[in-house]
Amino acid sequence: SAKRLGRNLSQRFRPALDKQDNPQLALVSDLRAALISGDQLELHYQTQHEPSSGEVVGMEALLRWRHPRDGMISPGDFISLAERHGLMSQLGTWVIEKACAQQAHWRNSAMPKLTIWVNISALQLFQGDLESQLATCLRRYQLKPSQIGLELTESVLLDERAGDMRPRLQALRDQGYAIAIDDFGTGYSSLGYLKRLPVDKIKLDRAFIKELPHDQADASIVKAVLAMAEGMGLGVIAEGVETKEQCQFLVKAGCTSVQGFYFARPLPAAELEKRLVPIPVDVPAAS
Ligand code: C2E
Ligand code: MG
Ligand code: MG
Ligand code: MG
Repeated sequence: SAKRLGRNLSQRFRPALDKQDNPQLALVSDLRAALISGDQLELHYQTQHEPSSGEVVGMEALLRWRHPRDGMISPGDFISLAERHGLMSQLGTWVIEKACAQQAHWRNSAMPKLTIWVNISALQLFQGDLESQLATCLRRYQLKPSQIGLELTESVLLDERAGDMRPRLQALRDQGYAIAIDDFGTGYSSLGYLKRLPVDKIKLDRAFIKELPHDQADASIVKAVLAMAEGMGLGVIAEGVETKEQCQFLVKAGCTSVQGFYFARPLPAAELEKRLVPIPVDVPAAS
């Protein structure tokens, strides 16, 4: 009937941005609101350790969103949403600002020599004014570039457009920021790209750490990456270290830093400060 047709049409042509019908869009507008209010977003920090002494050598800043209705939402569930809906630049700015403020606080207190690592989205590098944003924050908090590290996922660096990024990375590195390739080994990589990219560290993806030390293939891959990195003068941070055995393997294999639940979960800064006790790892003597 005409009535039914009318209803179907009106449904079909209902404005695309109907929040009630589209939970994703509702989330986007919630995120927009969160960015304005600022008080639902948090940075948590996960320690990185020098493996044999257990000494803290760095912190990774990890974004958290405490949604007023849905509770804690993890970045895996909203970063790509932010990217697709034009909010990443603003979100990235918020993260850099917070991380620098925290770094200024830590520099003046318990942890003067720490690098804080920030995850940088591809979009921030491709289209943003990352360099000037960082410079503004450093000036505001009187920090040096060497106190901030930038993590870029391997898949980003392998993107075709990465060609244009190389000069930007180089410029950032020349200024003294540390640059790491995140999730190393998970993108499709020709190892040749490592030679061309201006980076300081590799973050070995936790997929390779998970089955250590038992899985022969993973053990071989990890050793090979560590040998290669050493030859190229790159540091290696192992991600997702959860057990003492994994850690012992990595120490023996010459890994330069380790990060994972075995040492600490990502925590709010205040929580973390209370728990900063080094965990030394005894490596059994070779028999
Ligand atoms: P990522 O940078 O590779 O961060 C490591 C992830 O592994 C974090 O998940 C961390 O909580 C988790 N993790 C750490 N140790 C362990 C462990 O021992 N075992 C296991 N199973 N997991 C561990 P999270 O916090 O959910 O972050 C997920 C991803 O979201 C990050 O992966 C990063 O790519 C992205 N992300 C987080 N914060 C930001 C941010 O501020 N900006 C951007 N652009 N991306 C971010
Ligand atoms: Mg990371
Ligand atoms: Mg990672
Ligand atoms: Mg990862």
